Amino acid sequence: MNIETGYFFISDITGYTQFLAHSELDHAKEILDALFESILENIEPPLIVSNTQGDAIICYAPSHAFHQPGQLLDVMERTYFDFRRLLQLMKLNNTCDCNACLNMSALDLKIFLHYGEYLVQQIGTKTDLQGADVILAHLLMKNSVFDKFGLPGYGLLTDAALRAMGIDPSAEGMLAHIEQYEHYDAINVYIHDVPRRSLAPEPLQATNTNAIAINTARVAKILPVICGRKEGCFPRYTYTNESNILLGRE
Ligand SMILES: [Zn+2]
Repeated sequence: MNIETGYFFISDITGYTQFLAHSELDHAKEILDALFESILENIEPPLIVSNTQGDAIICYAPSHAFHQPGQLLDVMERTYFDFRRLLQLMKLNNTCDCNACLNMSALDLKIFLHYGEYLVQQIGTKTDLQGADVILAHLLMKNSVFDKFGLPGYGLLTDAALRAMGIDPSAEGMLAHIEQYEHYDAINVYIHDVPRRSLAPEPLQATNTNAIAINTARVAKILPVICGRKEGCFPRYTYTNESNILLGRE
């Protein structure tokens, strides 16, 4: 087994447990499946999905696989943006009054990026990551960010990840923060307020046709998965015209 150095990219849905606990399972599952699919759409090589744990999708990539590791910040932003856009579209195109459909807008997304050493262990067809940095990447999901900043959705990048990517957190407007975990030294992290950044331009306006085309193409692949399945759940709009889906027109 070789020790490798690379990035850990973990997505974690805010409000997942509460959403499942208080929602009708059939529609909740469809909504969550679509959101997971939206996240996975953005996980492309060299990022590799290691495994999933509940609502968390754990991915990694060896550092030598990147010419420009700074692209991971773009992946983080795009993943968040697509997740929120899909939620908006599902909400907009939904007339169902079940708890799942009513409560879905309480969901949000957190994405964690850390850098360090790991071992890849192959168990059957599954890969498992091992090492102190892997454990730390998982620990980051339990943090004090909401208590301190009040953000339900954000990107959290460790100092180690930012250094490895050559990104200056202050130039990106990230917020400095410190987390402390048992058996580890205090860890410097930076909070990337992706919602403020990516949702700043009103996403449902048709002014930026390029952005709309790209995002519509992505969600149009996902929407039929939900829309075609349950009668009465998403009946208000038709889904044949992609630009009309986005603009909420029939
Ligand atoms: Zn419903």
